[in-house]
Amino acid sequence: SSRNRFAPEVYIQGILSGDRILLSRAITLVESSLESDKVLAAAVVEGILPFTGKSIRIGITGVPGVGKSTFIESFGALLVEKGHKLAVLAIDPSSQQTKGSILGDKTRMETLARDQRAYIRPSPAGSTLGGVSAKTREAMLLCEAAGFDVIIIETVGVGQSEIAVKGMVDFFLLLMLAGAGDELQGIKKGIVEMCDALVINKADGEMAEAAKRARREYANALHLFPAKESFWFPQVKVCSGLTASGLPEIWEMIQEYRDKVQGNGFFDANRSQQRVNWMHEHIRFLLETTFYQHPLVQKSIKEMEIGVKNGIYSSIAKAKQLVELFYKSQSS
Ligand code: GDP
Repeated sequence: SSRNRFAPEVYIQGILSGDRILLSRAITLVESSLESDKVLAAAVVEGILPFTGKSIRIGITGVPGVGKSTFIESFGALLVEKGHKLAVLAIDPSSQQTKGSILGDKTRMETLARDQRAYIRPSPAGSTLGGVSAKTREAMLLCEAAGFDVIIIETVGVGQSEIAVKGMVDFFLLLMLAGAGDELQGIKKGIVEMCDALVINKADGEMAEAAKRARREYANALHLFPAKESFWFPQVKVCSGLTASGLPEIWEMIQEYRDKVQGNGFFDANRSQQRVNWMHEHIRFLLETTFYQHPLVQKSIKEMEIGVKNGIYSSIAKAKQLVELFYKSQSS
C-alpha cells in the first residue's frame, strides 16, 4: 500500500496519548493482510500490551432488528455522560456474504459516532471468523491502551460469533424481544447459557406490559440453568433503547457484576483463561493460513475438491494427503 507507515514507537506513543488518528491507523494495520503490515501490527500490539486490561469489556448480541444500535447509542450516551470513554467494535460474520457491515449503514449510532468521548469502529472484513475475531481482539486492546475504559463488542445473534465474543469479554448481554419467541426454546439454548444478562428490549408503549411478562417467564426459566462458574446469577431486565428507560439499571448491574467477580477471583481467572484460549485460537489460525496459502496446497486443492465433489476421492484420504504434502514441504 502507498499509505504512510511509521515506526512502531510512533503508533505506540500516539495511542498511549489518546491520538485517535494513530489509533485508527493501528487498527487498520491489525486488519491488513499485507505481510509487512502484519509485522508492524504485531510490534505495535506487543508494545501496547502492558497498558491494556483496564476496561470493562461488554459483549452485546441479538438478532438483526432487536435494537442493538439504538440500544448502544442510548447506552453509550449514558456512559459518556458519566465520564466514561467508550469504544464500540463489531463482529459481523454475515458481512462476508453480503459485503456489507452491520455498521456499514451510516445512520447507525450517528450521535455517538460524532461524540469525542466515544469511538466506533466497524467490523473488519475477513475470510474466516477466526481471523475476524483475532483482529477484533487486537483492536480492543489498542482501544484500551488509548484510554477507553468501556469497550462494547457487538455481534449479530446468528451463532458462531457469540462464542468468539464470549471469549473476549467480561460481561455478555443478550438483547431480546418480548413475544418474538415466547419460550426459551425459541432462542438458542447455548446462547442463553452463555449470557450474564438477558435484556428484553423495546419495552415501551404497547409492548411495555408484554416485556414485563416475558421478564418473569425468562427469570423463572433461567433458574433451571446450572450455577455459573462466576457465581453470578444471570439477570433478566427490561429496557427501551429508544426512550432510554431501564438503561441506568443495566449499567448498575454490570458494575455489580464486576464488583462481585473481582471479589471472588473469577474476573482475573476468566481473563487468564481467555488469554490461553487466545493463544490456541491463534495457533489454529496461523496453521490454517500457512496451510491454505502454501503454493503446493493452492496448486492441488481445486482438483481435489472436484474429485471429492464427484465422489472419485474420499474426503478423508484427500485431506490426509494434502496435509502430508504440506508437512513434507515444510521439513525439506
Ligand atoms: P439492530 O439491527 O439490532 O441494530 O436494530 P436497530 O437499532 O437498527 O433497530 C431496529 C428497529 O427497531 C428500528 O426501526 C428502530 O427504530 C426500532 N427500535 C430500536 N430500539 C427500539 C426501542 O427501544 N423501542 C422501539 N419501540 N423501537 C425500537
